[in-house]
Amino acid sequence: MEVPFNPLDRQYFMFQKEYEEKALKVLRKGWYILGEEVEAFEEEFARYVGADYSIGVDNGLNALVLSFRALGIGPGDEVIVQANTFIATVMGITMNGATPVFVEPNEFHNLDSKKIEEKITGKTKAICVVHLYGQATNMDQILKLCEKYSLKLVEDCAQSHGARYKGQMAGSFGDLACFSFYPGKNLGCFGDGGAITTRHKELRDKLRMLRNYGSQVKYQNEEVGYNARLDELQAGLLRIKLSHLDDLTQERADLAQRYLEEMKNDKIELPKVDGDCSSVWHLFVVMTEDRDRLMSHYQKNGIKTLIHYPIPPHLSNAYKPLGYQEGDFPITESLAQKVLSIPLFNGMTKEEADHVIRVTNAYQ
Ligand SMILES: *Cc1c(COP(=O)(O)O)cnc(C)c1O
Repeated sequence: MEVPFNPLDRQYFMFQKEYEEKALKVLRKGWYILGEEVEAFEEEFARYVGADYSIGVDNGLNALVLSFRALGIGPGDEVIVQANTFIATVMGITMNGATPVFVEPNEFHNLDSKKIEEKITGKTKAICVVHLYGQATNMDQILKLCEKYSLKLVEDCAQSHGARYKGQMAGSFGDLACFSFYPGKNLGCFGDGGAITTRHKELRDKLRMLRNYGSQVKYQNEEVGYNARLDELQAGLLRIKLSHLDDLTQERADLAQRYLEEMKNDKIELPKVDGDCSSVWHLFVVMTEDRDRLMSHYQKNGIKTLIHYPIPPHLSNAYKPLGYQEGDFPITESLAQKVLSIPLFNGMTKEEADHVIRVTNAYQ
């Protein structure tokens, strides 16, 4: 039996009729950029997250780039960020000329709040938390540190649409929170897309301007901005998926629950969830000492797996100029050797999940 990693056609066919009707409606309307669908999606998404405003943008990376820019973070400024993230988080910081200051993660793969304070300097302007793999970060200490040192808080919610800390949704804690709607994300569109949520009206206005050439009134440009807009077609399709997101999240949670209860293998460490946090299971990440061997075991049994992520940003060629070496972040580097993501996706059949569990338990 073959089990793919994340076949996106499954969730398309779940709501095929709704998607196709919406696509035709937008195509026939003749208005494709910054219109009714984007405005309606922005309102619905802000309400969903529990933020006051949301700003649609063209992808998750640009959500981050525009966020640090809107906060005035640039050359000479430092941003604290976890070392074990997808590299786009770090690019959002460095593309503004600011310096990332890496902190090791805790046992839940999220920012370890005990290790932040020692990294704060006179140059620190913000903390960036990444709710990695779909699990919300434990926010208590982080919020206190932001207050104590007057730091801005930016959330990277690209993997955590709908995850909660003490009942409050990720994306409603930060001054700004960045989302990606890349097709493989939990709330994915059919191309590239992203959004920023905030409770600050002045940041909302600034971000609306930055995403559109620095202009609010046509042909009046206040700053050198970007073209980073979400389009009408993606916004319309996102409204449909958002209306089903809670059900899709529940389906993932049910699959994760089965995995956690039924997978039993001394050689494979299952993911843990912090008691105050919920996960929307963007990824189901196990850990093992001999990952190559486990990967080929899954492969031999028709199961596709992936690694998120094999090279931490501080060791990537892109960040050689920062001057880090192997051994600088031992926890992050060890995780990069051990983590393996196994299939968990919307539309997964019972037989597929049974097979993944059986093959996991049979590994020796
Ligand atoms: C996917 C992702 C991004 C980037 O989003 P894109 O829409 O692909 O640009 C940023 N941060 C994290 C943690 C991600 O997983």
